[in-house]
Amino acid sequence: MTTLPPDQILFKFRRGPEVFTLYTDSKLHRLFRDLYTEFPNLRIRAKADCWWHRMAHYIIVALTLGQNKLYLENMTTTRPDNIALSGKHWKRLHGGSREDHDRVWETIMHERRHLRDFQELGSCIMVLLWLIPPIFVCWGRAAVIEKPGYLVSLQCKFENNRAWAEGPEYREWWINCFTGPAYGWMYTPFRKSVASWFDAELLRLQQEAASGS
Ligand SMILES: [Zn+2]
Repeated sequence: MTTLPPDQILFKFRRGPEVFTLYTDSKLHRLFRDLYTEFPNLRIRAKADCWWHRMAHYIIVALTLGQNKLYLENMTTTRPDNIALSGKHWKRLHGGSREDHDRVWETIMHERRHLRDFQELGSCIMVLLWLIPPIFVCWGRAAVIEKPGYLVSLQCKFENNRAWAEGPEYREWWINCFTGPAYGWMYTPFRKSVASWFDAELLRLQQEAASGS
């Protein structure tokens, strides 16, 4: 790990301030500066610190018949001006390596798309799309909210680790986010469509990289 002079950003928490050390030249550092400019009231917190996320975890375990037990550990959730970081990203952010911070950057980029969704669509439409129905055929959630978010995730993964983004394991994980229990099987009947979203975006990124743009 390169030892560069660290910078410190004061994160604004509901339960008092907390300081993280970020690499001054990192993408994550730049992203947080941009985010606090675009969303001055943004709060970032550990998901497990929030009682209603802990409660939602048990509801999601019940709704998915135990198929999704990783709501707190693996899934980051965004509301207007609030990002609740998953347990694994919270750990990566605290004293993590450069690679750890790059992984957090990928996720926060995805969540920035959702912060903008809240501004563009409004909270009422976002909540309706997200929660109704809570599981199965959540087509609005898939097509309107998560498709743009996961296209950002793919772009970021391609930038950070192109070989992994082009590999079969990542493609399968990406498709399963839409068709598996992570989001309540939100787009299960349309696996082919999801695969075509992924393939088209990957091809576009490859063509851009080949043309040097
Ligand atoms: Zn998302």
